[in-house]
Amino acid sequence: MTERLVTLLSAEEIAARVRELGAEITREYTGRPLVLVCVLKGSFVFAADLARAIDLPVRIDFLGVRSYGVDTETSGVVQITQDLSRPIEGEHVLLVEDIVDTGLTIAHLINLLRTRGPTSVRVCALLHKPARARIQVKIDYLGFTIEDRFVVGFGLDFAERYRNLPYIGVIEHS
Ligand code: 5GP
Repeated sequence: MTERLVTLLSAEEIAARVRELGAEITREYTGRPLVLVCVLKGSFVFAADLARAIDLPVRIDFLGVRSYGVDTETSGVVQITQDLSRPIEGEHVLLVEDIVDTGLTIAHLINLLRTRGPTSVRVCALLHKPARARIQVKIDYLGFTIEDRFVVGFGLDFAERYRNLPYIGVIEHS
């Protein structure tokens, strides 16, 4: 069986959308100190680009999360593998997520961070698969809505592969 990657979103399309999101976030958070919380591992590429598209002084922190094993189905169980390095009490937090699929991971993270007394918690996701939603979560800043396909690249993996692809693709087998 051979494996082929088909481009769903090109590097250029992603870059253009990230610039727009950065401009929107810059407008809305001007005068309000912002903490970007990058959800590892999948969001590291998106967060790096998004942070550079935001023209404000931001603090960046990382939250390590595991919600998938080696298969492509979520278990609904979210395990924290690495916690934030500093408190977020009184801060405006923007959770940066690669993809919202069932919504279980991001809902869990919003609840977790809210217990720590931030002034606000919002969500910025590169991708959203509404077809698979199991819980309604407000995505305040969204890159793209996509069909129910398992995607890789731009930080997203399949069994830890493909994270370094500069675009978002779908694996096809033939
Ligand atoms: P949720 O809890 O919303 O179902 O899943 C969120 C997490 O599942 C994402 O952060 C991502 O790690 C993983 N995930 C969901 N859909 C995909 C997909 O199409 N491709 C990859 N590589 N990971 C996905």
